[in-house]
Amino acid sequence: MTEASPPSEAPGTRADEPAWRQADVDLDAVASNVRRLREITGTEHLIAVVKANGYGHGAVECARAALAGGADWLGVADVDEALALRGAGIEAPILAWLHDARADFGAAIAGRISIGVSTRRQLDAVTDAARSAAPSSGRVASVQLKLDTGLSRNGVPRGDWAAVFEAANAAELAGVLRVDGIFSHVSNASIADDEAAARVFDGGLELARDAGLAPSLVHLAATAAALWAPATRYNTVRVGIGIYGLSPFADRTSADIGLTPAMTLRARVAGVRRVPAGTGVSYGYTYRTEHATTLALVPLGYADGVPRQASNKGTVAINGGTFRVCGRIAMDQFVVDVGDHDVKVGDDVVLFGNAATGVPAADDWALAADTINYEIVTRIGHRVVRHYRGGTWS
Ligand SMILES: *Cc1c(COP(=O)(O)O)cnc(C)c1O
Repeated sequence: MTEASPPSEAPGTRADEPAWRQADVDLDAVASNVRRLREITGTEHLIAVVKANGYGHGAVECARAALAGGADWLGVADVDEALALRGAGIEAPILAWLHDARADFGAAIAGRISIGVSTRRQLDAVTDAARSAAPSSGRVASVQLKLDTGLSRNGVPRGDWAAVFEAANAAELAGVLRVDGIFSHVSNASIADDEAAARVFDGGLELARDAGLAPSLVHLAATAAALWAPATRYNTVRVGIGIYGLSPFADRTSADIGLTPAMTLRARVAGVRRVPAGTGVSYGYTYRTEHATTLALVPLGYADGVPRQASNKGTVAINGGTFRVCGRIAMDQFVVDVGDHDVKVGDDVVLFGNAATGVPAADDWALAADTINYEIVTRIGHRVVRHYRGGTWS
């Protein structure tokens, strides 16, 4: 077992006891989810997306696990995230696709980061940075052109495709950059919408080839499209949520897809009290006890990513029972009504984990907070100690 930061346990607690607030991350699950996704998609390449600290799970640890499971590329949003992986000693190819207008592409090129390019201006900035790199470095910038095929976020707008392809080809012929990939991202509005985006993308690929480009990676699908629309797979998929074992679909669970949720969010009960009927609980007294009951205090709040919107709705597992949050979730703590169950200070509380083990899922919290499982795991805060299990390759 390795730890990202020192445990916040009181002196004298056993080393194998969970920290007060803890996210267990099962790295073997990440590796096996990647294997499962490779099996389903059958693509030549798989880019494991570890942006935003690996969706809250830990970018470096999950990157290593994903590579061990058969990913051959990593994907992150920005160059800083990519360089942090390099700084941790990760040598695998990395793609970064979202850039500030002042992004330092020199550092990206020096770090052998493949740069996702969404505008003519970015292409020019990469070309300039590559030209001003020391010629002795012999370094050619790796570029992947991102096309907007309907999402209306970043990505080269359709009207600019031809001009960007020509400029990229000229820079490639001049030896300053190599177009290693062409990609896009889809809406997941429906299977039909994703397939329609794939047809628009096909037009872009044809135009690119006419302009002389021969990208080795062609990718459109993130997890949802990769699973539900085989026509979007091309020779590479770019998957995030699935490698963490979570489903991108509201109507299919992790188990339905054969994935194992990697994160278990847990804490230790910080307080227990017996209260009479009619007792108000937490800010605003949005909950009052109906009977004499036992209240258990959980030391996690919205500062730790537990959504306040799930007040009076979210559920937790304690000692084999499932109990609902009662009253408002505060910044640092919330209360659960455990009735007459035997719950003691220090008992393990699981907010979510692998539902197959009888605990709530991140999906349950997403439903309670009117959001998606992506947001539930990604927002887990800095006070929560990450404990890593598995990962014997590291
Ligand atoms: C976040 C992201 C992904 C991963 O999406 P998932 O739904 O988590 O698989 C892929 N591509 C791009 C461009 C992204 O921003």
